[in-house]
Amino acid sequence: MTTTASSSSSPAVRLGGCLCGAVRFEVPDLPDAPHLCSCRHCQKLSGGPVMSWVSFPLEGLIWTGTEPVWFYTYPQETRRGRCPDCASQLCALDDGAASIAFTFSALDDSSDLVPAFQSFARDAVPWLRPVADTRPPAAAAS
Ligand SMILES: [Zn+2]
Ligand SMILES: [Zn+2]
Repeated sequence: MTTTASSSSSPAVRLGGCLCGAVRFEVPDLPDAPHLCSCRHCQKLSGGPVMSWVSFPLEGLIWTGTEPVWFYTYPQETRRGRCPDCASQLCALDDGAASIAFTFSALDDSSDLVPAFQSFARDAVPWLRPVADTRPPAAAAS
């Protein structure tokens, strides 16, 4: 087996940013747990019925432009990051977590991502069908 220099020295990254381009970032391209969320926080923050989330390893995250400003939706537990200029909602970070969630729409390319479940489906608006839960049974039970 051979390993090319490019794959061993520079792991794949995924790029993203806000609407105005002030906030830019790159993360290791290891997306995990793509899903929609219809909790009240997501509805209030986004102005829409759901937000779309996917997690990436926090280690390796690089802010290549302005860093987001943060708002704690759950004090000392969970904060949301947005652009200080255009106010795009970009990310969510739990204190002490090893991963950070970005919205699909913060990514330059999310065309390969499909939501595998919808969290807080009980708070969803009644006029939009929740996505099907396609997780393996063990993951869905957690
Ligand atoms: Zn912006
Ligand atoms: Zn939510």
